[in-house]
Amino acid sequence: MKLGIFGGTFDPIHNAHLFLAESARLMENLDRILFVPTKLQHYRNSAIESAEHRCAMVLGAIESNPAFALEDSDLRPDATGFTADLLPRLHAKYPGSTFTFIIGADSLANSTWERFPDVLENLERFVIAPRPGVRAEALQRVISAVPKHLRERIATLNMPELPESATLIRTLLSQGRSVRYLVPEAVWQYIVAHRLYGITAEPLLR
Ligand code: ATP
Repeated sequence: MKLGIFGGTFDPIHNAHLFLAESARLMENLDRILFVPTKLQHYRNSAIESAEHRCAMVLGAIESNPAFALEDSDLRPDATGFTADLLPRLHAKYPGSTFTFIIGADSLANSTWERFPDVLENLERFVIAPRPGVRAEALQRVISAVPKHLRERIATLNMPELPESATLIRTLLSQGRSVRYLVPEAVWQYIVAHRLYGITAEPLLR
């Protein structure tokens, strides 16, 4: 089985995540995409909502696509949150499968990855989605530091830049504004039902 591995905080999951995952599935000819919410934050501030809420929103968001699944390995108590540690666990869980890691350009360009060559050794492909504000040179700098035989596994996805981010969603909500249609309807309904991200504005709750 050809699996796509799509990690993130998903705080909350939004439409760009889904478009990116579906684009990767089609372009890379993947059988299934595993959405892997992360527990520990090495690359950003802590998640604002609990793992339970974030998983529930992922499940609601992916329900209509039979090729999408939630994978909770990175939420286990002993998970380190490092991709280099996650991938061997996933290989043990999905023996015989090949993995394509899916990522937004910012995650590669703006972060230092622990044991990045180890990550690539465990993957067939590592595909990068363009993201507004990420310069090609910043990406190229990271990629050119990778040994050549592993660099060949890295590819850029041919898809448009999408403006959604979880930060934008949280910011709008904190301003009492709606994010309906920036997130899947199930996610919007869940946010409202559980009053997530501190929403209190009465018109949003009707
Ligand atoms: P935040 O704004 O809180 O940093 P985020 O929108 O980047 O969140 P994450 O859950 O951190 O969401 O992202 C999971 C993965 O999806 C990351 O690899 C990220 O780069 C990618 N991603 C998220 N939004 C986009 C987007 N609009 N275009 C391309 N990649 C994206």
